[in-house]
Amino acid sequence: MTKHMTKTYFAPGRVNLIGEHLDYNGGLVFPAALTMGITATFNKRDDNKIVLSSATHALRKEVDLSDALAYDAKNEWTNYPLGIVHQLKKEGHFVPGCEIHYSSTLPEGSALSSSAAIEVLTAYLLLSQSETNINLSWLSNFCKQVENEFIGVQCGIMDQFAVALGKANNAILLNCSTLDYQYVPIELNHYKLLILDTKKPRSLIHSKYNERKSESDEALRILQTTSDIQNLAEANMSALELITDEVIKRRARHVITESLRVKETVKSLRFNDLSTFGRLLNASHASLKNDYEVTGKELDVLAEEAQKLKGCLGARMTGGGFGGCAIALVHEDAINEFKHVLEYKYQAATGLKCAIYESEIGDGVGEKKNENH
Ligand code: ADP
Ligand code: MG
Repeated sequence: MTKHMTKTYFAPGRVNLIGEHLDYNGGLVFPAALTMGITATFNKRDDNKIVLSSATHALRKEVDLSDALAYDAKNEWTNYPLGIVHQLKKEGHFVPGCEIHYSSTLPEGSALSSSAAIEVLTAYLLLSQSETNINLSWLSNFCKQVENEFIGVQCGIMDQFAVALGKANNAILLNCSTLDYQYVPIELNHYKLLILDTKKPRSLIHSKYNERKSESDEALRILQTTSDIQNLAEANMSALELITDEVIKRRARHVITESLRVKETVKSLRFNDLSTFGRLLNASHASLKNDYEVTGKELDVLAEEAQKLKGCLGARMTGGGFGGCAIALVHEDAINEFKHVLEYKYQAATGLKCAIYESEIGDGVGEKKNENH
């Protein structure tokens, strides 16, 4: 056997600062990549096998690259990389025989997009063996397709896009219908962005997510009877009168008001007005709780208790909801007390222990050089 050099790659998780459940509604979202993420080591093999292992899962999987691949619950986590391999082969890309080992600083199933991270990481590292200048916008769409079709989760483009194209100290203002995007510097002065993890198992998330998507599609279908909008996020508040079903109306109202909040947020950050940014975070959470109904008790306790604490300008759930994480903007001098009080109040109200992370805004997917020295 030829001895090949180990190569190391990294893909981050992400938080969405504001603009929740707008990606599949063709709206503006505002995610940022984290410094927490997944690392993969790649070792080429001389045969036609791919061997997958992860530090966080017992299952190790070996497949022959000439075999047909399909989603199988028995394959557990390996469905994500196998979905990428399947789609790469289907589209005629070269996939080398190799061993890939994943390790991670990113909690899984906590709404920080570890699924997008493992997809983008796997696609990037496999393509890097035969291609240079991988188009990251194309790559995010490719990975989204795998999550939609192979895994069966109807997510939008935001997660994969942020993981692929993230930039340190910047958020990405992304238009999910055109994929136009711009980086917006995030200068928080003496404030820090904390990630508050409910640690609640999210068993219902995938089915509820798909349900919200079809409710949004229904709202769009109603509005399209009198206007030629392509996406729900383009609608005006006055259009809500057309919707008689109260549930569908509330879903549409969240999408419309949240779109306005994204624009306000970007404006407030350009003026370095963090108090307004904080108020918009709070308003976003209320809309996700009351109109879109994707929060649940744990996220509500965490975000709403955080909002009341000294030094906190605002807090909201982030990601799909029904558990997972919230974010909070907290003054650096208040962080210790904030953590202490919030942990106590959360446990008293829910019986669960939350985790609080202080991640910075980091870069998107890439090879980690000098890892072998
Ligand atoms: P989220 O994307 O919010 O973290 P998902 O349920 O969409 O939650 O994806 C989590 C799944 O992704 C895990 O259950 C696991 O199958 C897979 N995954 C994420 N990170 C890793 C990792 N480091 N190693 C193996 N599988 C992982
Ligand atoms: Mg996911």
